[in-house]
Amino acid sequence: MAGSKNVLELHGSVLRNYCMKCHRFYNAEYIFSSLGIPKCSCGGLIKPEVVLYEEPLDDEILKKAIKEISNADTLIIAGTSLNVYPAAGLINYFKGKHLVLINKEKTQYDTICDLVIHDSIGKVMEKIGMNFS
Ligand SMILES: [Zn+2]
Repeated sequence: MAGSKNVLELHGSVLRNYCMKCHRFYNAEYIFSSLGIPKCSCGGLIKPEVVLYEEPLDDEILKKAIKEISNADTLIIAGTSLNVYPAAGLINYFKGKHLVLINKEKTQYDTICDLVIHDSIGKVMEKIGMNFS
């Protein structure tokens, strides 16, 4: 929505939803306009296409993320404490030159970064002219 062209959604998206019984897809508007738990015309429950805690990540998307990070010259990591794996471990695939971390709190990876900014991603991006709102 912010204009990024190549987005790998490791944890899926609440904008896509599917029936757990017949796998029919529903958009977010259908979910927002539903009363109570959203249900499919077949009677099945509709679940957002997101990866919840304890659920595995999509292997293909994870492989693509590893490939992109491995080939990147600069990696900007923003708005994460880097505590939840496997996503947090992706930093270890970076072999480029410039590693930047933007997060309100300290992380275990702060010491290996070239630039660390402890502030909210919204404030930082606004100051450098990137508007995500
Ligand atoms: Zn259904």
